[in-house]
Amino acid sequence: MQQPARSAADNHDVIEVRGARENNLTGVSVDIPKRRLTVFTGVSGSGKSSLVFGTIAAESRRLINETYSAFLQSFMPNLSRPDVDSLRNLTPAIVVDQERMGANSRSTVGTATDAYAMLRIVFSRLGTPHVGGAGAFSFNLAEGMCPACEGLGRVSDLDVHAMVDVERSLNDGAILVPNFAVDTWYWQTIVGSGLFDPDLKLQDFTPQQWQDFLHKPATKIKVGSNNLTYEGLAVKVRRLYLAKDRESMQPHIRAFVDRAVTFTTCADCNGARLNAAALSSRIAGRNIADCSAMQISDLAEFVRGIDDPSVAPLVANLRETLESLVEIGLGYLSLDRESATLSGGEAQRVKMVRHLGSSLSDITYVFDEPTVGLHPHDIARMNGLLLRLRDKGNTVLVVEHKPETIAIADYVVDLGP
Ligand SMILES: [Zn+2]
Repeated sequence: MQQPARSAADNHDVIEVRGARENNLTGVSVDIPKRRLTVFTGVSGSGKSSLVFGTIAAESRRLINETYSAFLQSFMPNLSRPDVDSLRNLTPAIVVDQERMGANSRSTVGTATDAYAMLRIVFSRLGTPHVGGAGAFSFNLAEGMCPACEGLGRVSDLDVHAMVDVERSLNDGAILVPNFAVDTWYWQTIVGSGLFDPDLKLQDFTPQQWQDFLHKPATKIKVGSNNLTYEGLAVKVRRLYLAKDRESMQPHIRAFVDRAVTFTTCADCNGARLNAAALSSRIAGRNIADCSAMQISDLAEFVRGIDDPSVAPLVANLRETLESLVEIGLGYLSLDRESATLSGGEAQRVKMVRHLGSSLSDITYVFDEPTVGLHPHDIARMNGLLLRLRDKGNTVLVVEHKPETIAIADYVVDLGP
């Protein structure tokens, strides 16, 4: 191929910041080379975070958000333009922080790094018996999930004695669930149903009353001239409190749930989250749940043994992702590990592997002290990842004061006090 002639489009090799005054910055002007690793240093209060996060990343985010419809924008934070005279040649910015990953039990190391998505395709092509496309191996899709636990791998049991005091009557406050105290709306729907004598102790209910009290599915009941919907207490508690993520609950609700709910491994799938068909399909004796439960370092070894030209590029990508995880010291994790249970440092490295495996290029990746809390040998690994992100054609900006990271920088921007 002939070398293309130099074009005007090539004249954008630096991010130009002119007159940045966000927070404590005093009119900072700086050129930051693209596709290089730049470390920002300076004492606390020097404004390095205001420059990197408050100006460069913030403006990139704002400009991208503006491209979404007004409807979608209404769900996003309202960002104002940072205080800066001019900013030129920004690229889309992604902040990779040590924030723990959300408490969604459907997110695992495998789904968060995309390794599980690749593994699903491998099983859909090579697994025997053949049970369907990649969706047949997804615990987040109806076609793959275990019907008993809906792909969660565990089922919840409610402890009746944490919900009610059977030695009391409804009028006497037998229900111990938050928001079900005497005279509350929920209490009124139960008493108003007319199904129970509100002065009878719960322990004196007939078996039918007890069944209705706890387990009756939602039913319309006519009370006087009103229709109300009655549902059993256990049914209602499941709907109101168990369908939610634990982290998003109010503290007193969470305390109740912790008291009243026990999670046990789903007996149908044994915690594997998948239906019987998906679990029957094997490669070299292992099903996809076995693979997900293996240590990632062992799984990388197993995947290395898959030698089939029809999936060679896919297997190569999968292997690269798994080996990246091993390289940065996360080989002890498994793909089925829930993301929410990772520490901040583990979460940050998992996110980095996701970005390393991404086909996106010319992104500005922004890090805030990525080596905080890392052991010295992990700092070297983290530095290796930063360099790999750069070498994929990205701009890497790091706020950091550790000499080990400053040593690998292409450029250092030192902000005075
Ligand atoms: Zn199950």
